[in-house]
Amino acid sequence: MRDKIIEEIKKADTIMIAGHIMPDGDDISSVSSLTYGLTMYGKKTVGIIDDEIPEYLEEFKFVKKYIRDFDCAKKNPSDLIIIVDASSPDRVGRVQELFEYRRVIVIDHHATNTNFGNINWIDPSYASTAQMVKEVLKGLDVKYNSELATMNLTGIATDTGFFRYSNTDQKVFRDAADLIEKGAELSKITNSVLENKPIENLLLLKDVIDEMEFYNDNKIVISHVKLDMIEKYNILPKDIPPFVGDLRSLKGVEVAVMFNEHEKGVFHVSMRSKEWFDVSKIAFEMGGGGHPRAAGFSSDKPLEELKNITLLKIKEVFEKK
Ligand code: 5GP
Ligand code: MN
Repeated sequence: MRDKIIEEIKKADTIMIAGHIMPDGDDISSVSSLTYGLTMYGKKTVGIIDDEIPEYLEEFKFVKKYIRDFDCAKKNPSDLIIIVDASSPDRVGRVQELFEYRRVIVIDHHATNTNFGNINWIDPSYASTAQMVKEVLKGLDVKYNSELATMNLTGIATDTGFFRYSNTDQKVFRDAADLIEKGAELSKITNSVLENKPIENLLLLKDVIDEMEFYNDNKIVISHVKLDMIEKYNILPKDIPPFVGDLRSLKGVEVAVMFNEHEKGVFHVSMRSKEWFDVSKIAFEMGGGGHPRAAGFSSDKPLEELKNITLLKIKEVFEKK
């Protein structure tokens, strides 16, 4: 499939590379690496994300250089659209309005991908989409500089929880080592993502801890962030920190769920598991998607009802085990 994609890229003159809404590190890394890499290869490119970028990712210089908003997408008609890291068309925001008249390639590592492109390269064995982008650029023989290596490594680092999650396999270390050899600066990535927290995030964590609820002998933990909780600290919805990781890190917890209110009455539900629970199945049933250990969905149901439905589904799986 990678070779077919390389052929399509060679044929196209102008290429749009688009990521998903609520962008994460792998997404911004994949969009900017492919955009920059294909520019180096001689193509006219534009990188698009139809959503606001979280503050901790905005600080990467390459985000400002290579990622544009949807208005820019409308102004840049292209022969080919390449979607990265998005598992369903609703995840690309308004970019899907442009699908009708162009060829669409999807490059993604989510098993829940709905194969919505004309050509789909979906491979859940990759820990990050950034590694699949690396394969494409390798196939085109793009020569890396330190900037491209750093932006490409960002997605591998963030989607593996900085080489800690169960998806951290030999290939992750090989690709990371190769990028470091090409000049990637891992400390720049760790400093921007991990060592750069506004104090307000810790104050908000205190409130999230107050709202924690435990179930099934403390194997399930849930909490929430409502708009009034973030307004208190002047935190924007796009900058709600990923507290679900803090909840999962607790001793004995198998499943952690955060209900984050992103706009009035609309919650984004982030789920994580530690050893065996497949949260992607529940996310998929609820209209979202993701990976076995990290998945999510959005809902406009009232918070208490949403918590009850989600808990019921999680508890059912525990009962069947
Ligand atoms: P997070 O909880 O950090 O938002 O997302 C965890 C994983 O689930 C990521 O791989 C993300 O792409 C995926 N995911 C989160 N929310 C959604 C959603 O609403 N739809 C789909 N298809 N995937 C989601
Ligand atoms: Mn990813």
